[in-house]
Amino acid sequence: VEVPLPTLFDYRVPPGMALLPGVRVRVPFGRGRRCAVVVRVGGEPAVAAARLKAVSEVLDERPLLDPAHLAFLQWAADYYHHYPGEVIAAALPVRLRRGDPALPAGESGWELTPAGRVADPADLGRAPRQAAILAALREHGGRLARRELAALQDPSPSALRALRERGWLQPCSVAAEVAAAPAAAAQGPELSAEQAAAVAAVEAALGRFAAFLLEGVTGSGKTEVYLQLTSRVLARGENVLVLVPEISLTPQLVRRFERRLGSAVAVLHSGLSEGEREQAWQQARSGAARVVIGTRSAVLGPVAQLGLILVDEEHDGSFKQQDGFRYSARDLAVVRGQRVAGGRGCPVVLGSATPSLESLRNARDGRYQLLHLKQRAGGARLPQLDLLDIRAQPLQAGLSPVLLRELETTLAAGDQALVFLNRRGFAPVLTCYACGWLSDCPRCDARQTLHAGSRLLWCHHCGAQRRVPEVCPECGSGELHPLGQGTERLEQVLRARFPDYPLLRIDRDATRRKGSLERLLREARSGAAALLVGTQMLAKGHHFPRVTLVGVLDIDGGLFGADFRAAERMAQLVLQVAGRAGRGEAPGRVLIQTRFPEHPLLQTLVRQGYPAFAEAALAERREAELPPYSHQALLRAEAAQAEPPNRFLAEVAELAAARPSAEVALWGPVPAPMERRAGRYRAHLLLQAATRRPLHELLTRLLPGVRELPSARRVRWSLDVDPVDLL
Ligand code: ADP
Ligand code: ZN
Ligand code: ZN
Repeated sequence: VEVPLPTLFDYRVPPGMALLPGVRVRVPFGRGRRCAVVVRVGGEPAVAAARLKAVSEVLDERPLLDPAHLAFLQWAADYYHHYPGEVIAAALPVRLRRGDPALPAGESGWELTPAGRVADPADLGRAPRQAAILAALREHGGRLARRELAALQDPSPSALRALRERGWLQPCSVAAEVAAAPAAAAQGPELSAEQAAAVAAVEAALGRFAAFLLEGVTGSGKTEVYLQLTSRVLARGENVLVLVPEISLTPQLVRRFERRLGSAVAVLHSGLSEGEREQAWQQARSGAARVVIGTRSAVLGPVAQLGLILVDEEHDGSFKQQDGFRYSARDLAVVRGQRVAGGRGCPVVLGSATPSLESLRNARDGRYQLLHLKQRAGGARLPQLDLLDIRAQPLQAGLSPVLLRELETTLAAGDQALVFLNRRGFAPVLTCYACGWLSDCPRCDARQTLHAGSRLLWCHHCGAQRRVPEVCPECGSGELHPLGQGTERLEQVLRARFPDYPLLRIDRDATRRKGSLERLLREARSGAAALLVGTQMLAKGHHFPRVTLVGVLDIDGGLFGADFRAAERMAQLVLQVAGRAGRGEAPGRVLIQTRFPEHPLLQTLVRQGYPAFAEAALAERREAELPPYSHQALLRAEAAQAEPPNRFLAEVAELAAARPSAEVALWGPVPAPMERRAGRYRAHLLLQAATRRPLHELLTRLLPGVRELPSARRVRWSLDVDPVDLL
């Protein structure tokens, strides 16, 4: 039952009712009834038989989840110490969670009505688009999935509406057929020796579990390796799960899979309606879809005959779920690979140009096999990275004279340039020159960012907004000035400086409207805009063949961040952005502005590249006994006052001390780095151990008592196993 309780619930099966694990049922719960999923049938109930309530109703004829899948989800619930009902619910689409009847496994489509079948196209007069739809449907037996119709022609919504109004056309469900393995997959380019070796290594492991780390520099042809492997798995009659960080930011990967593998691909993305989502989920479950591409939650869903799992950009933070059931989709992908097909397993490939230190350590220890792509594909060269010392330089909106000059040269040569600043808005803070007032967020220990376009002060942590004041709220002076810069200000300054060159800004504010990101990326790729300005949205796997210069601003925070992962994230981001340069014929250059040009990690990154950086960073982590050389769990608590979270966590620490574990260290309670957020005070208790086992044993022992603490009722608390964000 989907409730925040750490147990499964026992029910009696009434006579005559047949139940299988994996079907949904309706059961009495509390004062009402709930939709639930059957996990086990039989065995000894945990409560006296007389007190057992009976299952009210069976909702599915056949199981939605198979036993191996249920066992995987229970494993995940155990490992993350999360509520099993919520974990299992997370594997289902929203409608099924609610108990709605399952949609037919087919896809939505259009069919001709009896009138439409015999209608005379001449009656349509001058309506060529309606006539074309009619003709396409007639050629295909009167019925097509929407997707198929869209592939044949781009039917206009108004033409479809007109045909419906005539009574010739109606929506229908098209039975899903198992798509044949498309032969077209063979059409890719000839693989380089490195690519071929990677494909061969994974291919040799098909049919059993093995984990691989595919470390390939940007543009080295990782996607091509994925495509080749996928077609080989499909040819074996098995299916593939592809996990990506964020679909809207990786449209090119999705498009390449679709173009190469056609109708066999189902994409689970946030733009789908609930019904469409469920249909894609059903196609994955039934095997009608041969390739399932999705974001982190797809690792929880079913995939029939799963033969390979690919995790692209495995280092990306979005694979970690940050609330509710806090899991790492990357880590679960590996566990899933071990457990599919009744424990026979399948290979899992984690790919990245900048692998996480966790995965690199696994590769070093031999748990993952390392596959290296060191060359860019198709003859393109890797860009040259250089540090720009900006100490004592006059900066203009954060841009140094050298960078401005280089931008000018690049633009004058007719090439494209990209300026990267990972902060949206106009300026991170507004201040009063008369009294020193700062635009503090009323609800957080943070500043509100100035957004000049919308005339707002806006907190990026809690979303609190207010109009930009005309005069200082403190002293009434008109001397209000922005401090520092965001992408809006960068855009303004660059437009003024280079008025003859078209500029595109790409960040969350510029792409809020649906479809606008796609449009902006298309324009950026076409090369029509000479200057690109943006946040990390620009950094993901886009291919801008004409960019030859990348300027990177304001990365110094990553060298001294409060979080021990700050440097790793900075390096990954810098290299991802840098990877946008020189992907075409012309070589690329990357200029990184810094006030700390002598910083050893930065030096290593720029002079020797990511593998050497990672080596140095791993040595630091080992020295400091930090992950991946130790394992952590973070207890968070928050409340409207500062005292209850502290009290609660102190009591948890006492509980732990009552039966101390020599192997687990406790840190805290301490206030969170940003203590007040969205009006609530937050505190942390960190548990750390050299190996996983004592940590998990302690948690298992501790949590029942923690849930019973009276102080737990005065706070909102949560447990984060393997936290990636300590803020
Ligand atoms: P990555 O995923 O590592 O960034 P891609 O797979 O996107 O790299 O490859 C970068 C570019 O090189 C793409 O345009 C791709 O079509 C091309 N490419 C990949 N492999 C080859 C190859 N073996 N021969 C020629 N071009 C290739
Ligand atoms: Zn003032
Ligand atoms: Zn705030």
